[in-house]
Amino acid sequence: MKRKKTCPVYIGKVEIGGNAPVSVQSMTNTKTDNVQATVSQISRLEAAGCDIVRLAVPDMAAARAFGQIKAQVKLPLVADIHFDYRLAIAAMESGADALRINPGNIPHQEHVEIMVKAAKKLRIPIRIGVNAGSLDKALLAQYGHPTPEAMVQSALQHIAILEKLGFYDIKISLKAHDVPLTIRAYQLMAETVDYPLHLGITEAGTIKSGVIKSAVGIGSLLAQGIGDTIRVSLTGDPVEEVRVANEILKSLGLREYGPTLVSCPTCGRCSIDLAAIAHQVEERLATVKKPITVAVMGCVVNGPGEAREADIGIAGGKQEGLVFRRGEIIRKIPEDQLVQALFAEIDKLIEEENRC
Ligand code: SF4
Repeated sequence: MKRKKTCPVYIGKVEIGGNAPVSVQSMTNTKTDNVQATVSQISRLEAAGCDIVRLAVPDMAAARAFGQIKAQVKLPLVADIHFDYRLAIAAMESGADALRINPGNIPHQEHVEIMVKAAKKLRIPIRIGVNAGSLDKALLAQYGHPTPEAMVQSALQHIAILEKLGFYDIKISLKAHDVPLTIRAYQLMAETVDYPLHLGITEAGTIKSGVIKSAVGIGSLLAQGIGDTIRVSLTGDPVEEVRVANEILKSLGLREYGPTLVSCPTCGRCSIDLAAIAHQVEERLATVKKPITVAVMGCVVNGPGEAREADIGIAGGKQEGLVFRRGEIIRKIPEDQLVQALFAEIDKLIEEENRC
């Protein structure tokens, strides 16, 4: 997949854009001034494969807590701020690795200049985050309603403010809950500037609908080579966002992270309870970190082919199954022992690879 090359920025040690791999972001939903709860959520996000975490900084208590949180976590932290340049300064002084703030929403030019000067001195990038739901009145009057052109225009206005002050450490997002609108806005932006793009479908909903909207929106942009970092927005536990984001990247071959499960949809040929087996395997694979492929197939039509291509696989027969390891049939096992046998082989494979 040929990716559009953008000018890189660094959030802590994580490079975004340039030749860097697409990174995964999420946002805590704890109260930021509840330091313990926020640190513990960031640790869970890190364990799930998150690269960068954003924290809301709505007031000075949150900005002060930012420093205490920063001291206890390894992941780079982005301070999410609206309107108030003093919160941006406080968050930067507390160790923020990046800001998400729209300079055009800061009422006084001198305050923008103070903030940008501090960000420049500390080499802290700024993400301009345009949201279809909060476009300014003049653009809405000009375009009638949130259109891709209006969103891009809004981003360009914020960019111009930063560029005028000689600030170029910029990253851009253009989010909407409407998938075609979001896709077109990012396409236009990618044709217009070389700043790295942070992709996301905002307010995508709960896990049921949000996963699909995010996969379609973010996935189709990535498949066109657009996008340098992604955030899946789901109503619920942000750890789910990271799991979904990693699955999107894995499905496009943009990241190797944890195992891949291949399982067939089953049909009238299947003579084992494949759905139950696949769910058990999926649950147990959640604790495996190695990027291995495991195939769970219902019968001998497509089963042996897929099972052979996987690192470890099973293909069902009549209340029994064949276990494959990298193309070789190694055992025939009764149905009730299949999951156990599969995991015995997975454990063996991982142990052998760790020894090498
Ligand atoms: Fe049906 Fe076999 Fe294909 Fe599964 S692998 S869908 S059981 S034909």
